[in-house]
Amino acid sequence: MYLIEVYVTNSSLNVNRPFTYVYDKPLAKYVRVKAFFNRSQNIAIVVSCRSTNQTREEIDQTYGFSVQEILEVVDEEPVISEEIFELASWLSKTTISPFIGCLNAMLPKALKTSKSLKGPKMIRKLHKNEGDFAFTKRQREIYDLIDEGMIAAEARKMSVSVIGKLIAVGALTEYEEEAQYENTDVERKAFKTLTDEQQNAYDKIISTDQIVSLLFGVTGSGKTEVYLHLADHFLKQQKEVLIMVPEISLTPQMIERVKERFNDVIFYHSELSDQERYEQYRRVKEGEARIVVGTRSSVFLPFHDLGIIIIDEEHDSSYKQDNVPCYHARNVAIRRAITHHAKVLLASATPSLDSYSRALKKEYQLLELKNRINLNLPEISVIDLTKQIKKKDSYIISEPLKEAISETLYNNKQVIILLNRRGYSPIIKCAECGTTLMCQDCDTPLNYHKDENVLKCHQCSRTYRIPKNCPSCGSGKLIYYGFGTKRVEEELQNMFPKAHIDRMDRDSVNHKGAHAKILKAFEKHQTDILIGTQMIAKGLDYPDVTLVGILNADAGLMHQDYNSAKMTFDLLMQASGRSGRADSTGRVIIQAFNVDHYAIKAVISHDYNYFYNIEMNYRQKTGYPPYSHLMEIILSDMNERRLQDSLDYLGRLTDTLSYKVYRPYRLPKQQKLARYRILIMGKNLRNMLDEMQKIIDGYISEKNLSHIKIDIDPLYLE
Ligand code: ADP
Ligand code: ZN
Ligand code: ZN
Repeated sequence: MYLIEVYVTNSSLNVNRPFTYVYDKPLAKYVRVKAFFNRSQNIAIVVSCRSTNQTREEIDQTYGFSVQEILEVVDEEPVISEEIFELASWLSKTTISPFIGCLNAMLPKALKTSKSLKGPKMIRKLHKNEGDFAFTKRQREIYDLIDEGMIAAEARKMSVSVIGKLIAVGALTEYEEEAQYENTDVERKAFKTLTDEQQNAYDKIISTDQIVSLLFGVTGSGKTEVYLHLADHFLKQQKEVLIMVPEISLTPQMIERVKERFNDVIFYHSELSDQERYEQYRRVKEGEARIVVGTRSSVFLPFHDLGIIIIDEEHDSSYKQDNVPCYHARNVAIRRAITHHAKVLLASATPSLDSYSRALKKEYQLLELKNRINLNLPEISVIDLTKQIKKKDSYIISEPLKEAISETLYNNKQVIILLNRRGYSPIIKCAECGTTLMCQDCDTPLNYHKDENVLKCHQCSRTYRIPKNCPSCGSGKLIYYGFGTKRVEEELQNMFPKAHIDRMDRDSVNHKGAHAKILKAFEKHQTDILIGTQMIAKGLDYPDVTLVGILNADAGLMHQDYNSAKMTFDLLMQASGRSGRADSTGRVIIQAFNVDHYAIKAVISHDYNYFYNIEMNYRQKTGYPPYSHLMEIILSDMNERRLQDSLDYLGRLTDTLSYKVYRPYRLPKQQKLARYRILIMGKNLRNMLDEMQKIIDGYISEKNLSHIKIDIDPLYLE
């Protein structure tokens, strides 16, 4: 008999430990098995196996219950390596989430331990056998038309009955193979000679003993070219290379740029089908391809010998997963690099405060690219909307922006219009003096809640009735400020009836390939003006774009989140970086109310350090990251009563903590679930994790409490 320990598929934290089963044969670690758990069939993964001389009865006696048998073994080979197992264990500890959930987050669907087990897609092919067969004329014709390995379904299109006959007499054999997805090839291009700045950065990354380097390079300074040279270097050393990019910037342009230089590149992102993801995963595992360009989850691919992990736009929030397990790919990358004796290159024009402060402390090697390749930064100007509105101008497309667009179109160049609005509910402003209505307790802007027709502070939950007059100048002209991309499109189409205008936002790209199509048309200059949300701010490199207009640029600043100034700054810098990347100097026009805000001033003067110093000062005073770590706990429930009880129960547990625990904040309902957020702030992460684990253990051991979710170091608060 063998005692087998497995993790079962179950998302609750209180089954987050191995369970013991018996089996009559030894089993390899990390194969999946079927077994009963809580009276239903479950797919589990084996994590240990040892033999025993005890009989079934003795085993049951030892354990004090009837130890069940494994029903069936699913895999012939382990689905993961020791490294991936350890990584999942580490992830489980550092995100305080169930091991099995961590493991499944790391694997393509076909390898997950999901309850309905679906293997990879198989495809039936034909093998031609040698031998003397008495063919009819028709059979001979068709047999000759069949190539070795031809897909059976294709062959059957010629004649179902003849193929059947050929198989019956043994001339053909049908076999199954995992479906393959081929990459199409592109024309090969030579590497560009690096500039002195680029070369210097490259040399230092190669020669350093430090694990992490931070490449701080302005937009258009040629960071991508540095990545490609680095990739080449490590590939020539027979090592693997991972280039990570934010969720939405794995554009056709980026894909092409990498394909132009290397064979067998793997692209790993969310638009792939389950089968494609599985296939790419397998290719990495088999060592068929050694360079991967991918989004967040590519950090979990089964590499053998990594040379370097490059994280483009390392500050980007898409590297943080906001559902369980709430991991940050940057942390995972560093962890993997240590295991592989590899390097990590973090790169950005607007580094995260965390990375930049570490670089200043020499924890990371700091490298800078100060110049654009074309040596030409765009000219940035700001339109003060308060002034424009007084002049009866539109606050959607102001007169000066309209003129600039008109000029650009006249010169046959292209325009990008960025709308900063994601997740922000409308605020109320005075059209006369520009005052924004603020919470009296928190100094944060109030948000308009249409359903209840009130103003609400998202910091302290205090609600206000909507005033008739401006509290600072008494004017009655209060405006609800907030509009969408569609409205902008209409406005622009009216202004420029002949212009080709396209729009990219969540609505217009919700089907596969739409994103690529819109960008392709823009690249070919079939579109004159591209309007979009955050999606169009990143990574695009189109020579004909000479004007970028940014609407409601300070909308983000109106949000109360601790990270909103940084996110606004990043967005404006990224968006500005799209303008004037080739021969002609670009222009950027920013429309805002809050024109004196340091985030906007810093963008105008292209001055990251100016922003960094002010922002770090604020973070230090308030104690927010990077001066601390945050833990966000969200309780959710349909049952209000139970939610309150759970909140009380959790409150008693967190009372013992030596960290700052904020008052519970009631979040808006989500899909009928009432929710509360509890925020905890502290300095020593390891300590916080330990204490928090205990609190969670205490919470989940109690029956009949609300669902609990933990997010360590959230990048923004809801
Ligand atoms: P970033 O990633 O820093 O925004 P890119 O890598 O997109 O910048 O480079 C900006 C432009 O400069 C691209 O069109 C790129 O092809 C070009 N470029 C980069 N490095 C060089 C170089 N060494 N010589 C000539 N052109 C370059
Ligand atoms: Zn006023
Ligand atoms: Zn408040």
